[in-house]
Amino acid sequence: MQRLNNTDIKYLKGVGETRAKLLADELKIKTFRELIYNFPFRHIDRSRFYKISEFNNEMPNIQVRGHFMRFHTEGEGAKRRLIGIFTDGERMIDVVWFSRIKQIKDSYPLGVEMVLFGKPNFFNGSYSFVHPEIERYDALAPQKGMRGVYSLTEKLRKRGFSNRVLQNLIDNVFDKIPDVEEILPQAVVAKLHLMPLDEALRNIHYPTSLVALQKAQERLKFEELFFVQLHILRYTKRRKFNIQGHVFSTIGDKFNRFYSEVLPFTLTDAQKRVIKEIRSDMRTGRQMNRLLQGDVGSGKTMVAFMTMLIAIDNRCQACLMAPTEILARQHYQSISQWAEPIGVNVSLLTGSTRAKQRREIHQSLIDGSLDILIGTHAVIEDNVNFHNLGMVVIDEQHRFGVAQRARLWQKNATPPHVLVMTATPIPRTLAMTVYGDLDVSVIDQLPPGRKPVMTLLRYNESRQQVISAIHRQLEEGRQVYIVYPLIHENEKLSLKSLEEDYHNVCQTFSGYNVCYVHGQMKPQEKDFQMSEFVNGKAQIMVATTVIEVGVNVPNASVMVIENAERFGLSQLHQLRGRVGRGADQSYCILMTKQQIAKETRQRLEIMTQTSDGFIIAEADMKMRGPGDMEGTQQSGLAFNLKLASLASDGQIIQLARDTADRLLESNPDLFDQTHNQCDADNTPSADLIISPKEKTILKNELKIRFNNQSDWSRIS
Ligand code: ADP
Ligand code: MG
Repeated sequence: MQRLNNTDIKYLKGVGETRAKLLADELKIKTFRELIYNFPFRHIDRSRFYKISEFNNEMPNIQVRGHFMRFHTEGEGAKRRLIGIFTDGERMIDVVWFSRIKQIKDSYPLGVEMVLFGKPNFFNGSYSFVHPEIERYDALAPQKGMRGVYSLTEKLRKRGFSNRVLQNLIDNVFDKIPDVEEILPQAVVAKLHLMPLDEALRNIHYPTSLVALQKAQERLKFEELFFVQLHILRYTKRRKFNIQGHVFSTIGDKFNRFYSEVLPFTLTDAQKRVIKEIRSDMRTGRQMNRLLQGDVGSGKTMVAFMTMLIAIDNRCQACLMAPTEILARQHYQSISQWAEPIGVNVSLLTGSTRAKQRREIHQSLIDGSLDILIGTHAVIEDNVNFHNLGMVVIDEQHRFGVAQRARLWQKNATPPHVLVMTATPIPRTLAMTVYGDLDVSVIDQLPPGRKPVMTLLRYNESRQQVISAIHRQLEEGRQVYIVYPLIHENEKLSLKSLEEDYHNVCQTFSGYNVCYVHGQMKPQEKDFQMSEFVNGKAQIMVATTVIEVGVNVPNASVMVIENAERFGLSQLHQLRGRVGRGADQSYCILMTKQQIAKETRQRLEIMTQTSDGFIIAEADMKMRGPGDMEGTQQSGLAFNLKLASLASDGQIIQLARDTADRLLESNPDLFDQTHNQCDADNTPSADLIISPKEKTILKNELKIRFNNQSDWSRIS
């Protein structure tokens, strides 16, 4: 492994300085190892040529043998394309190129036997190939059965880097390094019956059989996820062992008085359970780091408030950070209402807080007279200092990265307990990875008496009925949101835009006030428009998805989403959560065109069938892949997985997590430098003890894999 890791790719047979630079620039491959860990994104079976007559719609990439009969160009300007007529001796197909037209014609002489690789496209009643890979039949190397296909960039292709070239380079590495050293502990490989690394790496590039390929993929996926989990758990455990937290042992006067005298409703069982979980965390003397998941409207704010009361009862201050000013203000309003009767002081600090007031707040934080600070990013600024910060609540986690969280808890000698709240339901496997350093609590119950939002799928053709329905709601005094996928009109996309439709809406609903918000407005302007809706002066709000997070207007009973097919399910769910907050029946109307793909219709129908955020999140992740899930990108933790999928490899994730966990339990020195393995008062469980050499290999791997993860390394 050492040689694989450290050998510069330029020393590989067939590479040299120029190609080394190209590989580094285009594919980030600088070492032997990086070449070998550049896995194929699919495989092709070169042992068989397909006939055009065998083509069908579901075909993967396949190979066809035959020759070109003629070339001609079609179209003008940007639409100009080269068509080659290719025959397998029985039938003909079109081969299409949109670029490099001159070059292509010259490189594929007519009548010479060629092999095309690609996926047959079915278009306008016949099959064609678009930009297939092409090789002369007589130059085709004897094949070893299945081979990998690799991502190549346009530039690489231009410089003559074909898939074959890459395959050859990989073969050259394996010739040079006949036996790649195992990086997983032997005990793990044996116990889980994993394919050894050397065998797995060879089989992922050129599988000896389909079964071998699967075993290789399994092993490499496990390896990938295992190191992610080891990395996360190592950090988490180090934090748990080394960082002292506040010990909140008492449930005091404020909490009890609030509970018995002020609390305006009965807590749901889920809220009670979560408060208990949090309370027991805060007693341990370790810093709490907990993720609180709860669907929109599940009552997270109350849980947050009661948690803050525990801190206050233990002579500490609390801070709540929200992603937007509007949200911060709404929290401030509800929380000060609850806090006032029990004599708890609350202040609001945002970007628009005046200097004088800001100074007063700073002062009251330092002298300890302020109990709760609510605000936006402004609360993490350097000049905000606390007397004794004991509890931090972060609302809508996905807007904050791990590092920002850390800034808050560095504000105190003893780091405060941290509760992160999110309404984005996160599938378990994703949570385990993306928020792997947090313990998770779930509020899986809505307060009683809520009427589920009725969700309807409507086509543009029946817009008139939708308009009438909205009119009826407006006449009853309700308010309405209309959401658009775009702010401005865009020629290329035939989508409704806010700007374009705003005047239509004003006309259609003349007699009502229409306000609008979108992401390109100045914050003050946005706030003003938003407040028009919040205080009921405007009855209709047209908006983009900026309203997705947090706004609470119980009187709003209709949410119309234009071009609903353009939104992800989780996003639709978040938007829908803006209505159904009052006692009245609410509606969410998903507008779309009649002609949409079957999958799109199925996706939208999920919305009409369930209001369970977790079901929706799972479905969303399955359909779109976790990369698109809200929150994963911004979390600062979206590990780039090469092989494994957070959406479909849940079992392997669990296995990787358990294995990493047991490994760290058995070998505490792996996460804690100060920890000696023979520590008398902390005898490790003997479950999975590994050799010093294996430890060195693991640590080395972690370094290679995660050194660039700035967010983590900065705080661990
Ligand atoms: P979210 O979890 O989306 O942040 P909120 O905390 O804003 O939800 O709660 C939504 C509404 O439900 C608020 O008006 C809140 O006061 C109310 N609420 C919270 N808990 C309960 C409960 N147990 N019973 C009745 N209403 C509740
Ligand atoms: Mg909320």
